Amino acid sequence: MTREDLLELATAFRDAAAEDIAGAEAAEQFHAATLRAHARLNQLEAQLFADYEVRVDCKAGCGACCHLAKIDTRAHEVFALADWIRKNFTSAECDAVLERAQAHAAAVAGLTLEQHLRTVRACPLLRDMKCSAHPGRPGVCRIGHSQDVRICERAFQNPDDLAAKSGSHAETKLAMTVASDGSTFAFIEAGFDKTAYDLGSALAEALASPEPQERWLRGEPAFSESAKAKQETPG
Ligand code: SF4
Repeated sequence: MTREDLLELATAFRDAAAEDIAGAEAAEQFHAATLRAHARLNQLEAQLFADYEVRVDCKAGCGACCHLAKIDTRAHEVFALADWIRKNFTSAECDAVLERAQAHAAAVAGLTLEQHLRTVRACPLLRDMKCSAHPGRPGVCRIGHSQDVRICERAFQNPDDLAAKSGSHAETKLAMTVASDGSTFAFIEAGFDKTAYDLGSALAEALASPEPQERWLRGEPAFSESAKAKQETPG
């Protein structure tokens, strides 16, 4: 894809999400808009795999990429995911996810960026090596794919090798990332929190109390400092 193609793709995803959230007021409507943006990302992935003849080696029950402790996402995706969990999990399952998410948050809170990148830890939503919230998972989890599961297994077994080869199809990953960013940009343009958050840490806060979502709906930062995604600090 050329730069112009990628810009066109980002713009199309931004415009579609902006149209979905225009006039929305209730949290439910924003969650529905997020799930529609996810559905568009799924369609794009299918189209790209077909166009580039990508042979995907991912299989249910692998779960290697769901052990990357550093999974960054945005607040609108966390709240849509939390909403999906509340609607689809039993009360006991919700409590269990909250407990695992809080354990995750406590485990990663004090890590530096590099330590976090080197950490192997199952996502709080991974059960029996499958995503228990697959239909509600955030964009970053939809972008991930592998053409060779042996590359993922090596990365899983060698977390200190931060320069390890990626199993993704580069063109597909780039286009999916750009499209997902386009959807996110629509939420930012509408005045919502633009912070990148650690998925497990933000999910723990979203499931524990209604206050983060109330802050988010007011256009304020949704989650605590410790839930923020770790970023490079300028040297
Ligand atoms: S949300 Fe689901 S797909 Fe994403 S890392 Fe967690 S278990 Fe894996």
